[in-house]
Amino acid sequence: MSDQFDYDVVVIGGGPAGYPAAIRAGQNGLKVACVDAWQNRDGKGAFGGTCLNAGCIPSKALLESSELWHRAQHEFAVHGIQASGLSLDLAAMQKRRATIVRSMTGGIAALLKGAGVTAMFGRGKLLAGRVVEVTGQDGKVTQLRARHVVLASGSEPTALKFMPFDGQQIIDSWGALELDAVPKRLCVIGAGVIGLELGSVWRRLGSEVVVLEALESLLPAADAQLAAEAGKHFRKLGLDIRLGAKVSGAQPGKDGVTVRYTDAKGEQSVMADKVVVAVGRRPYTAGLLGEGSGVSIDAHGSIVVDEHCATGAENVWAVGDVVRGPMLAHKAKEEGVAVADRIAGKYAHVNYALVPAVIYTAPEIAWVGQTEAQVRAAGAACKIGVFPFAASGRARAMESSAGFVKLIADAASDEILGVHIIGPMAGELIAEAVLAMEFRGSAEDLQRTMHAHPTLSEALHEAALAADKRAIDNLNR
Ligand SMILES: Cc1cc2nc3c(=O)[nH]c(=O)nc-3n(C[C@H](O)[C@H](O)[C@H](O)COP(=O)(O)OP(=O)(O)OC[C@H]3O[C@@H](n4cnc5c(N)ncnc54)[C@H](O)[C@@H]3O)c2cc1C
Repeated sequence: MSDQFDYDVVVIGGGPAGYPAAIRAGQNGLKVACVDAWQNRDGKGAFGGTCLNAGCIPSKALLESSELWHRAQHEFAVHGIQASGLSLDLAAMQKRRATIVRSMTGGIAALLKGAGVTAMFGRGKLLAGRVVEVTGQDGKVTQLRARHVVLASGSEPTALKFMPFDGQQIIDSWGALELDAVPKRLCVIGAGVIGLELGSVWRRLGSEVVVLEALESLLPAADAQLAAEAGKHFRKLGLDIRLGAKVSGAQPGKDGVTVRYTDAKGEQSVMADKVVVAVGRRPYTAGLLGEGSGVSIDAHGSIVVDEHCATGAENVWAVGDVVRGPMLAHKAKEEGVAVADRIAGKYAHVNYALVPAVIYTAPEIAWVGQTEAQVRAAGAACKIGVFPFAASGRARAMESSAGFVKLIADAASDEILGVHIIGPMAGELIAEAVLAMEFRGSAEDLQRTMHAHPTLSEALHEAALAADKRAIDNLNR
């Protein structure tokens, strides 16, 4: 590196997009700094971004704990386990969540160090000529001259103009993860992934949960068969999901918040002790770009990049939630790694057609590739294999036999076009489908791959067989 630069690469943001970019750049022998502005409630800095501090990891910790609580109450007896005197210690549950978060975010700091990355807590701003101005937590300002800059500043929750977050009664997803008491009445605005996961957590822990969704259908991005099955299970759990409900206002009062909405029947309202606004997230670029940075932002607030995550400015890249595409940690990570490899002149690839989607509800939901409707709209003749978990010995043994695997393959070439799973460990099972599809595998490839018995993965095997009406463990219709 010439004296002209302090670093080969400066990464702004240490979430799932930024920290992998920094680590891979370090592995590639480059001199790297990673600067992150995240501050936890105690004011301390932490790496890991939204995902580790306030998203993926804490939500999964609470989903796991609340699911165990639910099963202890509703399922143990089926196994012949009579448990009496069960009680909920929410403080211990929340302590476990916080401990997991602390150890995971501390782990990121260790990984950055291990890759030789200079890690800094502070706010980075890109100035002209790839100078990054860093304002430390103590207010000290330094300037870093970088050969390459990677922008990975993530996203923030979208607020509703007419009901701004107050941190008490009207809260965002981070607030909903840190409640210290189970609200009697919870209103979740938005039946997206985050709303459904958080609604499930608090419903299982005892809240009456109303979910208001403006769209007329649940999970419109999912395969319709999957979404219909999911709706049944959410309602069975007791989530009161109201579709076509357009929220128009909220009135906090001493007995709770009155949330007003309109639906097909007209003006409606619902009372809640807490309201979680989970209507989506938007790219976060506040204070990120100085005069002359050369980086453009589109109408949605995303940093404009090409298919290689290059911004219009020379040697400035952007990855993760702050650019187009699904706001998912694994997509962010792949982009971060790919950019670090490109900077080092190596081959890199991100297959945007195969970004798996997972919803960690019970049953879990996961899919990759095209839905049946998308395949049919494209005019391709397809064959479909469905295998219910009710016919899986392992699922029955787990008392988790709800749901199915649906595999869609091209009728002529046999290539797998989409896999849609609702059922136990769907998020784990989808990995096999992603791998098969990454290699452009066929239904026959899966059919001829041996799957251990009894495992949940046999359901995918059988769904592939069912696509050719050759399932063994289910009737072929
Ligand atoms: C409740 C919830 C649950 C979720 N669950 C999942 C899940 O199960 N699976 C999944 O794939 N995704 C999940 N997500 C989404 C996931 O968290 C994001 O897609 C992911 O965090 C995006 O990574 P990122 O690095 O692009 O952004 P972020 O994680 O937001 O990280 C950006 C970082 O940059 C920092 N930063 C911003 N501006 C600056 C600046 N100027 N200077 C320095 N630092 C800056 C921020 O403080 C932050 O630390 C969830 C999100 C939420 C809210």
